[in-house]
Amino acid sequence: MSTTLISLNPKAREFTSKPLKMFIGGQWVDAISGKRTEIRNPANGELITTVAEGDKEDVDLAVRAARKAFEEGPWPKMKPNVRARLMLNLADLIEENAEELAHLDTLDYGQPVSLTTGFAAAAADNFRYYAGWTTKITGETLPSSTPGNIFNYTRREPIGVCAGIVPWNAPLMNAIMKISAPLAVGNTVIVKPSEETPISLLRFAELVQEAGFPDGVVNIVTGHGPTVGAALAAHHDVDKIAFTGSTEVGKSIIRESAGNIKKVTLELGGKSAHIIFADADYEQALANAANSIFFNSGQVCFAGSRLFIESKIYDKFLADLADYSQNYKVGNGFDKETVIGPLISAKQKKRVLNYLEIGRNEGAEMLIGGEATEAELASGYFVKPTVLANVHNDMTIAREEIFGPVVSGIPFDDMDEMIKLANQTVYGLGGGVCTTDLRKAHKVAHALRTGNVWVNTYNITEPNSPFGGYKQSGLGRENGAASIDMYTEIKNIWMNLD
Ligand code: NAD
Repeated sequence: MSTTLISLNPKAREFTSKPLKMFIGGQWVDAISGKRTEIRNPANGELITTVAEGDKEDVDLAVRAARKAFEEGPWPKMKPNVRARLMLNLADLIEENAEELAHLDTLDYGQPVSLTTGFAAAAADNFRYYAGWTTKITGETLPSSTPGNIFNYTRREPIGVCAGIVPWNAPLMNAIMKISAPLAVGNTVIVKPSEETPISLLRFAELVQEAGFPDGVVNIVTGHGPTVGAALAAHHDVDKIAFTGSTEVGKSIIRESAGNIKKVTLELGGKSAHIIFADADYEQALANAANSIFFNSGQVCFAGSRLFIESKIYDKFLADLADYSQNYKVGNGFDKETVIGPLISAKQKKRVLNYLEIGRNEGAEMLIGGEATEAELASGYFVKPTVLANVHNDMTIAREEIFGPVVSGIPFDDMDEMIKLANQTVYGLGGGVCTTDLRKAHKVAHALRTGNVWVNTYNITEPNSPFGGYKQSGLGRENGAASIDMYTEIKNIWMNLD
């Protein structure tokens, strides 16, 4: 296959040519300890830049700045249309600098430029959507049965200082979801990006300044989870925490945040079932199955990693899926032909390959995939699209989140039995159904115990549509009106008018 490399955006090159600082109270600062973290390109292991490595003391500074901006600053009291204008300015700046932001993400987490460009555009859309909400946040007037002349009404008020902790897959987009909705209702925010992928969010913070936001409204603290992340979760002056990441760390966030009864939302792991009926449009189902697991190299919380296929087409469908996916080019995200970029780190690659070993030992058959051994991929963290056959729902590879380009094919005959198996998981994030029978589509979509279901498509999310998980996949929702609920307190006011 040809290699047409896209050259790195000059502004992205310049941004990463210097050591990067954190953004606290409108200032660019080093960590108090002076420590730095190396950031490496997962496609070749090369050093991109270094980033300030914050700790608990840096979190204290950021919380103080965000508190000041909330209590004293103009932000929560600003007229909604003025807040909206600033958010729209920021959306325009994201759009104007989309290529640079996309390139920074491709450099930092390896995925193809086409994909990171889509995420940068989605980030601007998300800000525009929540800018619209600033003027539409309403309370209620309620009838009162109390004797006398009682005026009973509610107001929605900001919660205060809201912290966000995000993972490394889709770094900019995941962070934006922790910033746009809270800002729309007048909160101030502190975000901790993943220690693996902080770069695009730091460039975003420059755009926040350029857009004209008051100091302390948006703060970015870079560093590791057990230090910066845990300090944010435990801090008594943080009013709300929104976390996206693994279920294991999600549980520790709940424990840590109990000290001051923070409001908590969690977007966690998944092991989503994608169900292919024999009556599905065959070519469309193949494309959907591949897209649902190999998009973003399988590093997607709602990836369709358990592929339930009706028995009568099981062998043919998996063989065709293997053929279809074998054509995906694995490589550097700056190569125009690349579909499958590297995994984020050597550690993640080892973890995925270890699951393949476990799967083989449990009796699964690998039709295609495994480690990419070609010479040009050897220095990066590449795993090829992997299709596993002969999988049962109770095998380790069907129960645990692999977070890589690995799909497990599970045969089924009876629809009710299959639904039971699909729901036999601790997770409940996404699910998919491919069928041309509307009754089956609705029945399965309603029966899946998950926050999102896609029928004859997959991977769609939009700013106006609630996203989140049942069971151990999460708590609360992001996007849409649901996110406004998650970032506001409801106050009930009783007034005696006599
Ligand atoms: P992770 O849980 O290891 O880390 C996520 C973030 O939490 C990082 O910023 C990390 O530094 C921080 N962290 C780690 N330990 C911490 C601690 N003790 N206290 C506070 N913060 C801590 O997850 P990851 O490996 O970065 O990302 C992959 C996981 O994220 C997968 O499980 C995936 O399913 C999940 N994810 C979920 C969604 C969703 O919307 N449901 C979206 C993307 C990713």
